[in-house]
Amino acid sequence: EAEALQQLRDEPAETTDGHRVALHANLELPREVGQAITVGAEGVGLLRTEFMYMNRADLPGEDEQYHQLREIVDGMGGRTVTIRTLDVGGEKLAWALGDDLGTGPNPALGMRAIRLSLSRRELLETQLAAILRAAAHGPVRILLPMVTTAGEIRETREVLANVHERLHERGVQVPHEIPPVGAMIEVPGAALAADTLAPQADFFAIGTNDLTMYTLAIDRTEDDVAHLYNPLHPAVLRLIRSAAEAARAARIDISVCGEMAGDPRYTPLFLGLGVDTLSMAPKTLPRVKQRVRALSRERAQHCAEQILTRSDSRDIAALLDAQG
Ligand code: PEP
Ligand code: MG
Repeated sequence: EAEALQQLRDEPAETTDGHRVALHANLELPREVGQAITVGAEGVGLLRTEFMYMNRADLPGEDEQYHQLREIVDGMGGRTVTIRTLDVGGEKLAWALGDDLGTGPNPALGMRAIRLSLSRRELLETQLAAILRAAAHGPVRILLPMVTTAGEIRETREVLANVHERLHERGVQVPHEIPPVGAMIEVPGAALAADTLAPQADFFAIGTNDLTMYTLAIDRTEDDVAHLYNPLHPAVLRLIRSAAEAARAARIDISVCGEMAGDPRYTPLFLGLGVDTLSMAPKTLPRVKQRVRALSRERAQHCAEQILTRSDSRDIAALLDAQG
């Protein structure tokens, strides 16, 4: 079986009716690049940059971040690397950022992710400078976590343009064009009003982990309520559809990069909703590719339509299982 999965690496991720799907890797550490290449990932759909900030007393400087990011960009050998800006706060803590981070009454709703980056400008500027320098060595996209308003994307773009200009003036090697800037769709309001974010975004990446948590009000790290954490809840599915429709209308790329993307049970749902890029932990990629190759997109579209009329998530799961 391991051999069959090996063989699968060189086969295209294509449905039985000839529709191509892009399978990308989520990376949390630079050393996972090798695994991403081994399973045949076409790019990095989500690079979580938290690893550079965790478990240390100081903050990483521009040069250190640049070297780490460049290693990943080089390692991916010309495939696109989607670098997410710092996503700490809530359940993700970084000691060096200060003791007060995540200690409020509701850390999940507090100062975190893009909100933190925009309120600690020097943090954002340093990270964007490192990303721009890495982007001189291969195709890079910039992804913003926990976006809730178009203003957050616009503000980040302004900072990015300034940093780009400053680096250019310093004679530092950066790409001529500023890389694409996209938004994570992982707050219910962002999914519901994705059409209002689209004019500022070059692409969307749906984060189903947080989207499920915030939509159902279930803490993803609380054991007591874990059984209620259900990404097939109709509300979550409607929000995914809303984001996919907004992306289609605005003609921007959309992917899913939460855990759902790496679970082959859900593959027909995404294809059916028109999400053709899935990004996942490298080890899950072969199974998802296998499922893609057994599916018909046309049937998946019918299936998704049906699913969105159902209220019982066991029903929905059964419909998904009945696909190719
Ligand atoms: C998500 O929320 O689905 C996601 C991909 O981001 P993270 O798991 O890093 O919060
Ligand atoms: Mg998230």
